Amino acid sequence: MERFKALVADKQDDKMEMNIKELGMEDLSEGEVVIRVAYSSVNYKDGMVGVTGAIAETFPIIPGIDLAGTVISSEDDRFKEGDEVIATSYYIGTRHSGGFSEVARIPADWVVPLPEGLTKKEAMEIGTAGFTAALSIQRLEDNGLEPGDGEVLVDGASGGVGSIAINMLAGKGYDVVASTGRTEEAEYLKSLGARKVIHRDEVTDTDGKSTRKRRWRAAIDPVGGKTLQYILSSLDYGGSVATCGLAGGVEVETTVLPFISRGINWLGIDSVKYPMEKRLEVWERLAGDMKPAALGTHIAHEVTLEELPDTLRDILNGKVRGRVIVRL
Ligand code: NDP
Repeated sequence: MERFKALVADKQDDKMEMNIKELGMEDLSEGEVVIRVAYSSVNYKDGMVGVTGAIAETFPIIPGIDLAGTVISSEDDRFKEGDEVIATSYYIGTRHSGGFSEVARIPADWVVPLPEGLTKKEAMEIGTAGFTAALSIQRLEDNGLEPGDGEVLVDGASGGVGSIAINMLAGKGYDVVASTGRTEEAEYLKSLGARKVIHRDEVTDTDGKSTRKRRWRAAIDPVGGKTLQYILSSLDYGGSVATCGLAGGVEVETTVLPFISRGINWLGIDSVKYPMEKRLEVWERLAGDMKPAALGTHIAHEVTLEELPDTLRDILNGKVRGRVIVRL
């Protein structure tokens, strides 16, 4: 195997650094499937690994929790040379060398065959952010949400999870309200399918009320913190919120009141350890009835390995719009 390029994040004297390096197979984590990576993508977690090192479990590490590519070789019967595959989540890019590399070596148990109906590029435009949006919608629907029920709030709307969630919900006929700190992105959010765009201050708790005017049938929340506090206090009777992120904070103060007086559902979403059998079903849906209509448009843009360190800093600063894919 020839040498290949990868972005390596390392911690030296408590300081993080990111460098593009030429590596060999000996630099990759162990696994049965060797993949020529075509595309990776940028998620908030990649920013945390590369820029602050916060959730990296080992150093040095190749970040990149998502990748799509073609199998070069496999020691596992489930995969063979030439197969097109996706690998996302588990410990990829946090403990196990990840997708910001021309070559990856991944345990076969974490590898998903690319479903028919998706290209490798489209799979990365979706990536973990889109997979998480899909899980959130599934959970809301499993808890009774149907199109025509009322307004569905998506906060952190201009980000990766938010943008894909808006596009998928609108595609299913939901009435989507997008909340953003970047109202200059209103036209972008409407083009994805939001009927209405509001400022995030409108859905941020400032007075600590446990209940207030019933407003939302459901919500997808990648922000957490005071935004989630507001949502819990303003869900309609029997409404649900899918909690999937922490971009705005991890601490949430609430009381039992909205639960026992309005029967609301607080649903937790985890894409990392989501079981493989169900994961395959979600990817099939992402290639089929849940495929976001905006793939291939302005919902995503492409960067190179060299441009990645700046993009990783931007995502932590809330400056990235939609999805970013990395061409390897
Ligand atoms: P992005 O950075 O693309 O999106 C986050 C968005 O949140 C920003 O674009 C911004 O939207 C908003 N935001 C950022 N900072 C703040 C703040 N301080 N207060 C309020 N809003 C803020 O990240 P991703 O979409 O990739 O991920 C979003 C979150 O979801 C992250 O916390 C991530 O860790 C989590 N996540 C969880 C997964 C799981 O399995 N549960 C899987 C994938 C992601 P705007 O400017 O429009 O307001």
